[in-house]
Amino acid sequence: MSSDVLIAASQLRARVEELGAELDRRFVESVPVIVGVLNGTFPFVADLVRAMDSVVETEFLALSRFGEGGRVRVTHDVGIDLFDRDVVLVEDIVDTGLTLRTLLAQLAARRPRSLTTVTLLDKRPRRLVEVPVDLVGFEIGDEFVVGYGMDWEGLHRNLPDIHVVLDLAAFADEGRSVLSRPDTGD
Ligand code: 5GP
Repeated sequence: MSSDVLIAASQLRARVEELGAELDRRFVESVPVIVGVLNGTFPFVADLVRAMDSVVETEFLALSRFGEGGRVRVTHDVGIDLFDRDVVLVEDIVDTGLTLRTLLAQLAARRPRSLTTVTLLDKRPRRLVEVPVDLVGFEIGDEFVVGYGMDWEGLHRNLPDIHVVLDLAAFADEGRSVLSRPDTGD
């Protein structure tokens, strides 16, 4: 088998509930803007905002990557003014940290009142630049994952569990087939 379940849907649900509750505690006095980075965060943001009791605004931005060193171009921007707002930037994975560093600089230029960063997965061992990450769903190692929003070649974002790719060559061969699901009752 070229992939295995790393984080089951039931674990994701439980952790996302905790993250939502933590965000509720942080923003009792204001209406935060939750900004998800497309495409990888769409299931996470949908679950996260529904795990919150607070009134929130939900926005997305989309990126394309080019060149080296984490250079990104914003291809779809948030549709509202972020000045003086409590902004919560939501990432799927912080890996080298280069994408988050670039995004934080761009968002900080809009002078929000506060900027909080949340990532579902943190690949700490792979970090090349230090970036502030306020809330982390799960710490993982140096491994390639798909599912729950994250893709391989545009595929598998719809998997309810997060799968780790064990053998990339074999996975590429089998990559267009259905990945096995755990028997967890989810
Ligand atoms: P960074 O700039 O921190 O190196 O890259 C972060 C981005 O790389 C993530 O938002 C994600 O799009 C992508 N990425 C990093 N690791 C993985 C992985 O294991 N699986 C997938 N599907 N994408 C990854």
